[in-house]
Amino acid sequence: MTAPASAPGQGRSVLVTGGNRGIGLAIAQAFLANGDKVAVTFRSASVLPDGILGVRADVTDAASIDAAFAEVEAAHGPVEVLVANAGITKDTLLLRMSEEDFTSVVDTNLTGAFRVIKRASKGMIRLRRGRIVLISSVVGLYGSPGQVNYAASKAGLVGIARSLTRELGSRGITANVVAPGFISTDMTAALPEETQKQYLSTIPAGRFATAEEVAGVVRWVASDEAAYISGAVIPVDGGLGMGH
Ligand code: NDP
Repeated sequence: MTAPASAPGQGRSVLVTGGNRGIGLAIAQAFLANGDKVAVTFRSASVLPDGILGVRADVTDAASIDAAFAEVEAAHGPVEVLVANAGITKDTLLLRMSEEDFTSVVDTNLTGAFRVIKRASKGMIRLRRGRIVLISSVVGLYGSPGQVNYAASKAGLVGIARSLTRELGSRGITANVVAPGFISTDMTAALPEETQKQYLSTIPAGRFATAEEVAGVVRWVASDEAAYISGAVIPVDGGLGMGH
């Protein structure tokens, strides 16, 4: 028998990487509204809403992650809910993609997730409970021209979540992937208008989503209601990936 996860509103310690803007910030705000104690990582100074603790960390740097976790643990206690959200793109077609374009995206999106999960899992194993949510992308399973690096990094998160599920499942820890489609954030605003139009025409829902629509799903998969869901890939993509 494992200890039950804290009920919503009982103030779990939640950490969202890359939570200073975009989808990560919306996720942080959803947990805050839930009554949890929320921390986010940021790289450069940013103004955060009241009630959210900002800790400086770069997910490509294990020492900065360790320092950030120590700060969160001192303020909020061991991290019970980890959302590995920090991510970047460096899109270009394969023949133009340098090895650095490939490895830097994988280092942030995939190895970065590994680093924070490894650090968080120590506390979760001790607590005998935890929720790990990995923010992947529809592109991880659907593929996308010009995104060999990004797709590889996002597909890799599925392997991480499923292996974690097998390794840590008996300790009251779940690991799931949330795979957003096209969400209106800085990342998609940077796409050329023509590309945005093309994407839009392929989405059954006929629109991009808001970051809040992703955040609600992340909050739910980290809740007690989702205690028996692990190793799953949950699409939030307006039907684009047809459930993969
Ligand atoms: P944004 O570009 O708006 O934000 C990215 C966040 O990641 C920022 O907080 C950024 O911090 C942080 N970050 C990037 N690199 C690092 C790093 N090395 N260390 C720490 N933090 C870092 O992206 P979105 O909000 O759109 O995306 C969030 C996640 O959702 C990403 O993983 C993305 O791949 C995924 N996603 C997004 C989709 C979309 O349509 N927008 C669709 C599918 C998935 P900083 O402010 O310091 O740069």
